This record gives sequence, structure tokens and C-alpha cells, in this order.
Amino acid sequence: MPCPCGSGQLLAECCAPYLQGQRNAPTAEKLMRSRYSAYFTKNIDYLINTHHPSRRASNSREMITATANSVTWLGLIVLDTEAGQLEDETGVVEFVALFQEKGRKTQLRERSQFRKQQGRWFYLDGDILPALKPKRNEPCWCNSGKKFKQCHGKK
Ligand SMILES: [Zn+2]
Ligand SMILES: [Zn+2]
Repeated sequence: MPCPCGSGQLLAECCAPYLQGQRNAPTAEKLMRSRYSAYFTKNIDYLINTHHPSRRASNSREMITATANSVTWLGLIVLDTEAGQLEDETGVVEFVALFQEKGRKTQLRERSQFRKQQGRWFYLDGDILPALKPKRNEPCWCNSGKKFKQCHGKK
């Protein structure tokens, strides 16, 4: 199975070792990608455990479960990263998550903040940004080299 995070690798060789707790995601981007894969595979525990302890709410499980159950995930595109590498303590990842909810295709574009604590990356919080709307004949934003309409903009 290809990894849901869109890395082009197999799930078993990409996000699965993080999702199964065999390894910690080494960078903020890998943690972000694995959290998308966790939504895709409905791994609610992973989503809670990788949310910074200071930001977890008492209703986190219900909220995450409701989102995971109401949404069909269609793709992830990482647009930008700042820091978040092996030697960093903080990181930023901007991404677009494409999904379908109540029969409508839509997207979440977010600039997320990550923090490292005791050697592990955590999602802290994020700012929602306006949706991106490439023209159908423009190059796809995922850098596949295809036109948007032939790639992530496919109807
Ligand atoms: Zn992955
Ligand atoms: Zn694309």
C-alpha cells in the first residue's frame, strides 16, 4: 500500500514505523506527514500522543474521532517547511490536506507549529490559511510535473 502521506514510498517503509510506535518521527515534516497518515488510518491514539501535552483537551479523543469519521482524505501536499530538522527544537510545516466531507471536495491549508520535547516532536498548533486554488492548466502544486487538472485537481 502506498503511504497515504503522498511521499511516494510504501506505508510500511514510510509512516508505519511511527504509527506503530517503533520509531519517533525524526523531523517536524515527518511527524506532520505521519499525523495525516494517522487520520487516514484512524489511529486516534497516535494523534493524541503526538499532540503537545500542553495543548491536549479533555475532549481531544471525541474531536479527533469525529473528524476522522466524517472526512474522506484525498491527498496531502507539503508546501513549505522552516527548521524542524534533526538538530532543531522548533519547526513549521505548511501544508494542504485535500478531503471530501458531506459529498463536497474541499481543502485545509494550515501552517503548523511543532515543538521538540525530550527528543520527540509534537504538533503544537496551527494557523488556518485561505484555500489555494491553482488554475486547471497550471503545474500541480505537488511538483509532480503534471498539470493541476491531471493531478491533485482531478475531478
Ligand atoms: Zn508517509
Ligand atoms: Zn499533484
